[in-house]
Amino acid sequence: MAATILDGNKIAAQIRAEVAGEVRELSAAGLRPGLAVVLAGNNPASEIYVRGKTKSCEELGIYSEKHTPSASATTEELLELVHDLNRRDEIDGILVQLPLPSQVDSKKVLMAVDPAKDVDGFHPMNVGFLSTQRPGLAPCTPAGIIEILQRSVIPIAGQEAVVVGRSDIVGKPVAMLLINGNATVTVCHSKTRDLPAVCRRADILVAAIGRAGMITRDFVKPGATVIDVGMNKITGRAEFDQFFKGNEKREQTFASKGSTLIGDVHPEVGDIAGAITPVPGGVGPLTIAMLMVNTVRAMKLRRGTEMPALSKA
Ligand code: NAP
Repeated sequence: MAATILDGNKIAAQIRAEVAGEVRELSAAGLRPGLAVVLAGNNPASEIYVRGKTKSCEELGIYSEKHTPSASATTEELLELVHDLNRRDEIDGILVQLPLPSQVDSKKVLMAVDPAKDVDGFHPMNVGFLSTQRPGLAPCTPAGIIEILQRSVIPIAGQEAVVVGRSDIVGKPVAMLLINGNATVTVCHSKTRDLPAVCRRADILVAAIGRAGMITRDFVKPGATVIDVGMNKITGRAEFDQFFKGNEKREQTFASKGSTLIGDVHPEVGDIAGAITPVPGGVGPLTIAMLMVNTVRAMKLRRGTEMPALSKA
């Protein structure tokens, strides 16, 4: 039987509607959350991501501002900008879009962001808060994965979860969130022995690898929930045919755009998984939605404005 599709667009829309309601209440009380985005240089992909983030703020009533230092900006200039944003009370979240220009010490700039305004959740203080289960800001994509599971009523506690990938932005934080949710978690990477056998133990399998269609049916226990974080672009005909031959909808996208997106999970897994996130339209939409959630959360944590009606977070 075909897997249940976990519709990320639908879940993200629910979350965005909740955030918009919360922002309306906060703004009426004179507390409008604010996000500052730093976009240095002229990376076209970064420009698209930042546009999506600021547009989402507009739609939800969150104040946003964009800072665009030039491609020749120095580490010191960016540090000065971050320090200035740290000092401004009406700015609740600071997002430094990566990659920064090559001459900039990215780690130094990211470390300079006030952890209370670190809506990406990458600062070591927030990593520590997550691992010790203290209030803080969790990275957006991993937090979005947990939302997908919870809102789809897929149990986490007591389940075997296997995460393939150990990056600081996806693999490790999603593993930590799953541990905090009382799953039994195994984290795999490029040196894991007999990866398919380890993955087959999973009730919940999270693929965050960056390799088109690598997780085939041999990796999946029948009925398992499969969360596909990967976003890989296919541009070649041979590769397209390997994954999508005969898929009319994909053919149309490929013909019009010259490319199509595929996750880390092979389409054949849809035949044996119990539930699966599609690519596109699965985990992706949750990332920006959770950035909005984090901006409101940062405001409430930092300004100490837990209002009676808004005490969920
Ligand atoms: P990353 O930093 O490149 O990490 C990839 C991880 O996969 C590493 O831990 C690596 O192991 C592991 N890996 C690579 N090849 C492997 C193999 N053959 N077998 C087992 N493990 C292997 O990637 P990332 O930033 O976590 O992103 C992963 C994917 O998610 C990418 O496709 C990215 O575009 C996508 N992504 C999507 C979103 C979203 O919003 N949907 C957000 C972030 C990322 P080692 O540590 O041993 O090298």
